[in-house]
Amino acid sequence: MQSRRHPAYRGDQVFEWLHGHNVTDADKMTNLPAALRAELVSEGLTPPAHVAEVHRSADGSQKLLLELGDACRVETVLLPVTRTSDDANVLVDDDDDDDDRDDANAEVAPLAGARRGPATRVSQCLSTQVGCAMGCVFCASGIAGLKRHMTAAEIVSQVTLARQLLGPDEALRNLVFMGMGEPLHNYDATVRAIRILTHPKGLGLAPRRITVSTSGLVPEIDKFGAEFGGKVGLAISLHQADDAKRSALMPVNQRYPIRELLGALRRYPLDRRRRITIEYTLVAGQNDSAEDARRLARLLASLTVKVNLIPMNPIEHSSLGPPTAPRVAEFQASLHGAGLLCFVRRRRGDDVAAACGQLVLDGERPNARFVSRQPRG
Ligand code: SAH
Ligand code: SF4
Repeated sequence: MQSRRHPAYRGDQVFEWLHGHNVTDADKMTNLPAALRAELVSEGLTPPAHVAEVHRSADGSQKLLLELGDACRVETVLLPVTRTSDDANVLVDDDDDDDDRDDANAEVAPLAGARRGPATRVSQCLSTQVGCAMGCVFCASGIAGLKRHMTAAEIVSQVTLARQLLGPDEALRNLVFMGMGEPLHNYDATVRAIRILTHPKGLGLAPRRITVSTSGLVPEIDKFGAEFGGKVGLAISLHQADDAKRSALMPVNQRYPIRELLGALRRYPLDRRRRITIEYTLVAGQNDSAEDARRLARLLASLTVKVNLIPMNPIEHSSLGPPTAPRVAEFQASLHGAGLLCFVRRRRGDDVAAACGQLVLDGERPNARFVSRQPRG
């Protein structure tokens, strides 16, 4: 605003309209002078993304395919969770569900729809990159490779667009960075997006309602822990407790092996009442044996974590798949037996291709549209 020769507080006002009231049409920003409104309408406020497709699943989840300015596509998923539902979900971490204390800090519209009484709580899964450089073999985004980072504006616009689609009884409750891409590889934009989404003049979401999932970039985990004082939740994609086997599934393990990753988890300054989430995608024949379960239990024994077992969602261009249901149950029982808190997360939205990156990549040849894998950059 100052560079446009307007007082700086006009910037605050526009921020509040955009992120607090979710108003993107400058004409509706009634406390701005008419001349500034006209200026913004004619030359500014181009939305960084628009909704290209909406896929509704029979189970109530919605997958939005968003088109960015350069025609790249990313996806974001909205997952309604009713209080009575036992329909556990891979993307929802609701163990502190009933505690609203932190939300009192929000000045403006703490939660979309929050004033309308008992709402359906919605979790949203966000993307941070177009594709992903990490190359995990069971993941559609990894097979595609990294095309580019998303900007903070693009990351936040997933929330802006989703809020416009919420029903009157729905309230955005949790954000999980578990869509396409590795959030900590796109560190600066991810942090900036979280600062915008938690800003009291914006959506004002409590940091602990946000969880960032990472494949295990150790220096960035340390930096991120310091950045938000451990207030933002952390999920680690572990998927194997043996180094050689983990490296075969997740090339990132060659750079940051398990021992170093666990060191970063121990250092992460999470509130003592909360747990770090360990994600474990069960891939038949790769990490689902009785010995794999025992090794995992030994590895995690001394940590305050909870384990989410996710039977692999089959993807194009890969012959890997989930274990049988009895095998999944045995694996869970083994971890339970060893005293670990452990859930099997049923996949929802299977009918709209729920695995991250799948929808965008339908019909694409791997690496055809995306640049090839780069380890880190
Ligand atoms: N890049 C980050 C966050 C996005 S992936 C990370 O890897 O943590 C979010 C989760 O989905 C990760 O735990 C990932 O391993 C898992 N995932 C990826 N592809 C999957 C598939 N085909 N089936 C089940 N889970 C998958
Ligand atoms: Fe990237 Fe996560 Fe997929 Fe691995 S699982 S390729 S880190 S998005």
